[in-house]
Amino acid sequence: MSILYVVATPIGNLEDITERAKRILSEVDLIAAEDTRHTAIVLNHLNVKTPLTSYHDHNESSASRSLIDQIKSGKEIALVSDAGTPLIADPGYRLVKLAREEGVKVVPVPGVCAVTAALSVSGLPTDKFAYHGFLPAKSKALKDFLKELTNEPGTLVFYESPHRLVKTVAMFEQVFGSDRILVVARELTKAFEQVSYGTIVEARERIESGEIVIKGEFVLLLQGRLEVDSQWDERKLLAELLTDLPVSRASDLASRLTGRPKKTLYKLALSMKEID
Ligand code: SAM
Repeated sequence: MSILYVVATPIGNLEDITERAKRILSEVDLIAAEDTRHTAIVLNHLNVKTPLTSYHDHNESSASRSLIDQIKSGKEIALVSDAGTPLIADPGYRLVKLAREEGVKVVPVPGVCAVTAALSVSGLPTDKFAYHGFLPAKSKALKDFLKELTNEPGTLVFYESPHRLVKTVAMFEQVFGSDRILVVARELTKAFEQVSYGTIVEARERIESGEIVIKGEFVLLLQGRLEVDSQWDERKLLAELLTDLPVSRASDLASRLTGRPKKTLYKLALSMKEID
């Protein structure tokens, strides 16, 4: 039985193709590509003459069946997407799943992925991170989705398009407050590459002032929940906040600062008020 190769290609700079990817792409019998015209340009640059076939979101089921049958009959096939690693916010999942289910060998040919490229230069913790792909488009769904993430300890990574950037950053500010670090990584490996490091508020201000240009491709990296400062005892913190703020606002702030559930802090704040 033959092999399905899953081959990463560049996300901008064509020099980022690996030697192995070039060799595999020129040796296989067929390349399954998300957009054959786009991949033809990349292959032309690499001087690879392998035939192309189309594999995208709208023909994934039927194309997967046909590709697996061809592999079983002895063909070697490589899967590529328009940019980066296939299956990462790109087609390919059904094909690889079918290959696995039917005992077809699947071999990775790793390379660029916007997630790891962005993380590697973000300055945010990389020991623990969660990639969430593209965020929901509708405001309510977006807010609900983000609320679920408020207590996540690791760095949160999202893909975003330019026309939704402003709305997403505004929603980050609403849900996560203003203090967390938000790294905006734009056009990585390309001529107008830009990586902005600052708080959520600073990111919003840089977008408003035009310092962060709303053009091209974006990865957003958000600092995970803010850890408790060891010097802070939550009682002391609440006592301080309650001198100036009502219970609800004080517990909300304390929750954001300590990462502890708001409900717990609200109850504690209430009991402290009563003792007062
Ligand atoms: N498979 C790709 C990968 O491995 O990163 C991702 C494909 S997904 C359809 C495209 C999204 O990835 C873009 O909207 C953007 O969020 C992100 N992306 C791709 N290339 C990028 C780049 N050069 N700079 C920043 N983000 C990029």
